[in-house]
Amino acid sequence: MGTEAVVRAAKERSQRAGKPAGEFIISVSQPGQFPRETGDGPAEIAFLGRSNVGKSSLLNKLVGKPGLAFTSSRPGCTQLINFFSVNEQIRFVDLPGYGYARVSLEERASWKTLIESYLRGRQSLALSLLLIDARRGWMEKDLELKAWLEFHNRRYEVIATKVDKLKSSNQVKAGLAEIQKELPEHQPVPFSAIDGRGVREIWQIISKINKKQ
Ligand code: GDP
Repeated sequence: MGTEAVVRAAKERSQRAGKPAGEFIISVSQPGQFPRETGDGPAEIAFLGRSNVGKSSLLNKLVGKPGLAFTSSRPGCTQLINFFSVNEQIRFVDLPGYGYARVSLEERASWKTLIESYLRGRQSLALSLLLIDARRGWMEKDLELKAWLEFHNRRYEVIATKVDKLKSSNQVKAGLAEIQKELPEHQPVPFSAIDGRGVREIWQIISKINKKQ
């Protein structure tokens, strides 16, 4: 089965109530603990963004399993990388959120070491989804991460989250246009965990990944 067919099958499974596609694999706090990579192992999709941007909600929505990734109203409390198996060919990797003011310098440094070692060295990483709150647009740390991904030739797509909070279609348009300004070669994908907008488009993007970037 090709990647596209596998993704379709996973998605269909996730849509059938009680038959979720995602399974938690492991939480790691240090680079040495990442799951072992093999040449023909699953391609990984990384989820990146500020604390509270809606990463866990996106992950849960994609696999149709509400409690899979931990959603929290207390931002900044996770400094772990969580690996989830979607199917034999795909893994979702939830990276710790950044930009939470109350995190100490030491914690920030350890976040940087962990996330950079994953993003720099991981051969299985096929695509990063960079989440930006549609109401807030880019913040300094997001732009730094985008520049970092570009510098390291990592493929990424931008997801504009929480679009349901923008009340008119003009507001949505304006929010997307603002995000687009920093993305000459990308279209941000509007997403809402509340109404499911964007789920199909994001699965389509995932289905096109090629492990060898
Ligand atoms: P994370 O810290 O990036 O993993 O963010 P979470 O997924 O935990 O979400 C943070 C908060 O935003 C939670 O209270 C969610 O319920 C809320 N949230 C996440 N996605 C959406 C969305 O698409 N629409 C709305 N209205 N709220 C959302």
